[in-house]
Amino acid sequence: MPRNNASTRNPQRAKTVLHGPGGERGDAFRCVGCRLDVPLMAAGTAHRNHCPHCLSSLHVDRTPGDRRATCRGRMTALSVTVRDGGEWLIVHHCQRCGGLSVNRIAGDDNALALMRLAMRPLRMARQSAPAG
Ligand SMILES: [Zn+2]
Ligand SMILES: [Zn+2]
Repeated sequence: MPRNNASTRNPQRAKTVLHGPGGERGDAFRCVGCRLDVPLMAAGTAHRNHCPHCLSSLHVDRTPGDRRATCRGRMTALSVTVRDGGEWLIVHHCQRCGGLSVNRIAGDDNALALMRLAMRPLRMARQSAPAG
């Protein structure tokens, strides 16, 4: 009499696929500085335009979010500044046209990179001071 060998097999657990709807092009951009794929959604900002890792950006906005600038030069973070009310901003400097723009810092921006920017004037002052 053939017994149904109904041993309890471990059911293969379906792999959780991490590719969500956020993985497609259109809501991410490739950083011009460090080649990181940067998702446009970020805490604390409606439209992120700079890399959270190296803080580089592209000159695509005349006013933040409008994408009306035709320059498309690489913008590097020049400095940080604070608006009334304690909002931190990055000052970006375009390497192509020399334009400046300020952009709100996102919640996941690299704190170390921001610190380096904030400390830059101090470091330069120390370097230019006579050693003694
Ligand atoms: Zn980057
Ligand atoms: Zn530019």
